[in-house]
Amino acid sequence: MPLPSWNPLAPVFQTVAAFSRQLLIAPEASPEDHRLRPLLSVSLSLPAAPPPPPEVLKEKDANAAPLTKEEVGRATWMLLHTIAAQFPDEPTRQQKRDAKELMHIISRLYPCKECAEHFKEVLKTNPVQAGSQAEFSQWLCYVHNVVNRRIIRKIRSQGQKEEN
Ligand SMILES: Cc1cc2nc3c(=O)[nH]c(=O)nc-3n(C[C@H](O)[C@H](O)[C@H](O)COP(=O)(O)OP(=O)(O)OC[C@H]3O[C@@H](n4cnc5c(N)ncnc54)[C@H](O)[C@@H]3O)c2cc1C
Repeated sequence: MPLPSWNPLAPVFQTVAAFSRQLLIAPEASPEDHRLRPLLSVSLSLPAAPPPPPEVLKEKDANAAPLTKEEVGRATWMLLHTIAAQFPDEPTRQQKRDAKELMHIISRLYPCKECAEHFKEVLKTNPVQAGSQAEFSQWLCYVHNVVNRRIIRKIRSQGQKEEN
């Protein structure tokens, strides 16, 4: 079947792009401020080549993938901390289950395989605590710090290898 010259998903992409522009991430920022960049870049034209492999790149390569490992990480933590901040003080059983499931889904589907594997171990050692808003937020900060410490250790050991 010949491809339509008009992308049938164009209205969806336009809505997502318009919505992401409306997000008040930094209301005081000027239009050039990097914080106002959309989290996703979308194209309205049909792709000429097959999509890039679903790996997160170590360095930015505009031709291959829209986001670096750091950008995906920042966007994900921002979403998770926002969800935790809005989590109910007295969550229902379903909301507690959802919070746990969300974290386990991230540990399975996170688009940096090495990070996902490590995060599975983090969840095993630190089971999700989502009994209240405060508990979920504190637990999330704690596991975020576990990830931060691992990255710092890795940077230090790479520095030591380069010195030797
Ligand atoms: C689940 C998960 C696992 C990851 N695993 C790895 C990994 O194994 N290896 C790897 O290289 N990268 C990993 N990343 C990405 C990594 O955590 C960072 O997102 C990335 O390195 C960018 O770091 P950053 O310094 O910009 O700040 P980020 O760590 O992305 O944090 C974003 C912002 O959150 C705030 N913040 C920082 N720490 C806390 C805290 N403890 N509590 C509350 N707020 C905080 C700060 O304002 C910070 O600027 C992972 C990301 C996620 C979401």
